[in-house]
Amino acid sequence: MAYIVALTGGIGSGKSTVADAFSRLGTTIVDADVIARQVVEPGTSALLAIVQHFGNGVLLPEGSLNRSALRQRIFSHPDEKTWLNRLLHPLIQQETQNQLAKAKSPYVLWVIPLLVENGLQDRADRVLVIDVDCETQLTRTIARDNISRQQALNILSAQVSREQRLAIADDVIDNSGTAQEIGPSVAALHQRYLELAKSATRQD
Ligand code: ADP
Repeated sequence: MAYIVALTGGIGSGKSTVADAFSRLGTTIVDADVIARQVVEPGTSALLAIVQHFGNGVLLPEGSLNRSALRQRIFSHPDEKTWLNRLLHPLIQQETQNQLAKAKSPYVLWVIPLLVENGLQDRADRVLVIDVDCETQLTRTIARDNISRQQALNILSAQVSREQRLAIADDVIDNSGTAQEIGPSVAALHQRYLELAKSATRQD
């Protein structure tokens, strides 16, 4: 199994932007959001189970999952939310393990927005936090997703605080400057992770 670096941060902090920079250096990326979509793709047993449970109303006309319809069904229905989590969590965990195990690069970057919320930090060898102040998070999220300030605030306040995330960080990238400014930090961390991965292999 490759050395696992978990990359986390709040919404709009720059996780995807930083992950892209690591990917350009040849690092394998395992993305929790991508996996969450893969396990409910058309033709999966999970999608079938969801449709049997909630009805055809949670499907888009072309047969893929209508995420916002599903979100509405579980919103303020804790039992339904629990049912869905029980179905999806083991599948997500299994697929994450598969992808981590298949990784060919010396270390793998596991992009996991809700690392702290879901208490998953022990599954990684190292935690990298992308950090910006809340106002920057809001401005960038609003511009990217074309949502209202209130919607962005709602998402942000459902996540753990900046301090809680920083408390478990081994490494931090401050992304409050320009996107170009992260290049040198990414390059330096890449070297560090290659060394850590090498010494971890020696100890195995
Ligand atoms: P996350 O994946 O953490 O939600 P993104 O990487 O998508 O965040 O970044 C949020 C938005 O901010 C995107 O539109 C991205 O292009 C932009 N962005 C990221 N880093 C910077 C930066 N340093 N300066 C300006 N805009 C940035």
